[in-house]
Amino acid sequence: MTAAARALQRAGRIGRGLLDLLLPPRCLACGIETTGAASLCPPCWSGLHLLAPPWCRVCGCPLPHAFAEAPLCGACAETPPPFDRARAALRYDEHSSRIVLGFKRGGRLEGLPLFARWMAQAGEELLAEADLILPVPLHRWRLLARGFNQSALLARHVARLTGRTWSPFLLERHRATASQQGLGAEARRENITAASFRLRRPERVEGARIVLVDDVLTTGATLGACATVLRRGGAARVDALVLARVAKGGTVPI
Ligand SMILES: [Zn+2]
Ligand SMILES: [Zn+2]
Repeated sequence: MTAAARALQRAGRIGRGLLDLLLPPRCLACGIETTGAASLCPPCWSGLHLLAPPWCRVCGCPLPHAFAEAPLCGACAETPPPFDRARAALRYDEHSSRIVLGFKRGGRLEGLPLFARWMAQAGEELLAEADLILPVPLHRWRLLARGFNQSALLARHVARLTGRTWSPFLLERHRATASQQGLGAEARRENITAASFRLRRPERVEGARIVLVDDVLTTGATLGACATVLRRGGAARVDALVLARVAKGGTVPI
């Protein structure tokens, strides 16, 4: 795609975002007009799967049949992830994927206050101890093409809602990698490594309890790479908070 085409695409997204603010509210998932100030139509609301405990105390995957007070899933027991804990507001499925893709690719930013409330609820425990909220960064080329970093917008809204400090540029993606879309778990880990990221101001990370924010947790490869960089920089704790997470064995494309 040429630079001009990318600029047009970006302008189109921003224009749609502005229109969304002016037109009557539309369902964030299916796009039909909603009544009052509702963000979702009744069928889309009822199809949504908001995550709640019991979940794995490390990765936050739902463990509906767990009886232990702080259960641990088999995957985390076998191989602990590079981050300390992860929490997600929604299960990524055919319903929530329409909301996430409308936000990320369709520029529907009016759902951000609602997404932040869901995330603040799911990540209450993590945010209560957080010194700093950091979004997963985009490489500048992708940022130029998309016009916004969806993770930074989520991080900003969560930080505002919870009164926490956030920093959009402290963690930087300096190596452009192929899109993770459609890649399997192994390919995702190979595609994105800690070498893709670097810290611009390492002194702010040392000893800090950090909550990393992203839109979707799929295999955890991206969040894991960021967490590794932050740990090397001396972070005392690195947790991850996302809008939606893919359930183990989930097949909905991202
Ligand atoms: Zn709907
Ligand atoms: Zn787990």
